[in-house]
Amino acid sequence: MRALADLAEQIGFAELRVSHEQNIVLPHVAQSDLMFVFDRLKREGLATANIGLLSDLIACPGMDYCALATARSIPIGQQIARRYQHLERELGPLKIKISGCINACGHHHVGDIGILGLDKAGVENYQITLGGRAGMDAALGEKMGPGFTEPELVLALDRLFEAYLALRLGSDEVFSETVSRLGTTPFQSALYEVADAA
Ligand code: SF4
Repeated sequence: MRALADLAEQIGFAELRVSHEQNIVLPHVAQSDLMFVFDRLKREGLATANIGLLSDLIACPGMDYCALATARSIPIGQQIARRYQHLERELGPLKIKISGCINACGHHHVGDIGILGLDKAGVENYQITLGGRAGMDAALGEKMGPGFTEPELVLALDRLFEAYLALRLGSDEVFSETVSRLGTTPFQSALYEVADAA
């Protein structure tokens, strides 16, 4: 925060904006200063070029910081970002949004993949929605079915991403387009593959 504050004072009009997608915008930067800004951010470990990709996800404060939470949110986001780091460029543009309770501060309803953390008999349980969108063509994500425990969740996401990579027409077809083209049924099947087999 201090490094960003220093940078904002040095370049641009001492102004930083926090976006609803949990990114920080440094406005009013002269084009000629861009490399300086990049080098400075790189030094601070803040220059990851992941905008719009899997690890650029939204997670609400969840049980770590919010008294209303029914499940953790931030550690789930961190786990997902780490687990699929090697795959995120191949997966392409993808919006994952995580809320730690039904108040939906993580905007999970409008994520390509929405994750809602609930409490099920004292155990955190994560429900998945697919196909949500914000913007002019806004749509609420479709609830896929019963929730997953934390260990089950990442295995379900493994299957979901595998299905997407197999079903997309090519690397140009982003996740949301594949879901729009095929509907959620094949992805729902992938998510519950193991549960169905059992
Ligand atoms: S969605 Fe729930 S847990 Fe997350 S910040 Fe909002 S009220 Fe808190």
